[in-house]
Amino acid sequence: KRAMLKELKGKETITKSGRTVKLYANIGSLSDLASVLQNDAAGIGLFRSEFIYLEKDRYPTEEEQFQIYKTVAQNMAGKKVIIRTLDIGADKQVGYFHMEHEENPAMGYRAIRICLDRPEIFRTQLRALYRASAYGNIAVMYPMIISVDEVRRIRRIAGEVREELQAQGIPIGQVEQGIMIETPAAALISDRLAKEVDFFSIGTNDLTQYTLAIDRQNSRLEQFYDPHHEAVLRLIRMVVENAHKEGIWAGICGELGADTSMTEIFVKMGVDELSVSPSFILPVRKIIREME
Ligand code: PEP
Ligand code: MG
Repeated sequence: KRAMLKELKGKETITKSGRTVKLYANIGSLSDLASVLQNDAAGIGLFRSEFIYLEKDRYPTEEEQFQIYKTVAQNMAGKKVIIRTLDIGADKQVGYFHMEHEENPAMGYRAIRICLDRPEIFRTQLRALYRASAYGNIAVMYPMIISVDEVRRIRRIAGEVREELQAQGIPIGQVEQGIMIETPAAALISDRLAKEVDFFSIGTNDLTQYTLAIDRQNSRLEQFYDPHHEAVLRLIRMVVENAHKEGIWAGICGELGADTSMTEIFVKMGVDELSVSPSFILPVRKIIREME
């Protein structure tokens, strides 16, 4: 079986009837790059940038971040690299952030909420990311979105950062702007959000947690945590339809995207991209290539 998967390297991810699907990889650090290339991902669909912050005992500087993003962009040699901005919260403790203890961190001060509350942290990351965009095909993606207003505030800040760099004569590339759809709120207003961004990436890990009101980290609830729940699947379908009505693409970057029992269903729903752990690239490609 392994030999058969190996034969799929260098092949397109395309159904028998000719529909192509973007098959990207999820990564957390530079050390994952080797397996991304080894498994022939067509791009990186989720770079969880919080690991850069978690590995340090102080805020990573703009220059440190720039070097990391640039390295990823260069290694991917023109293939899409989607970098998710800081997604940290009271559950992922970083001493130097001085986060207060929270009773309910999953619903707490986290991710884009921190970035909008402390824009200096956000701007530093965006500057690094835009600078790196001159060295490859970088896109940016914002986590834990719940409103149109939030997206507009984010895009205003990103626009200012871009102008600032241009005024300094620093080269920057095109940077597609996307959001994660991982709250029921975002899924339900995805018709409106689709007018504000270039793409959607559905985070099924959090979308399941918030839709079912089941803490994804509570192991006692494992038997109840069901990403195949009809409510989650209906939201996914709705998001993909709303994306397409506005002419933008929609992908899945949560773990469910790598569930090979779902691949055919997602492709039929019209999902344009699947971003999975590197080891799932070839198994998912195999299923898509065998589909009608
Ligand atoms: C998700 O929520 O599905 C997701 C991809 O993000 P994370 O697992 O990092 O929260
Ligand atoms: Mg998430």
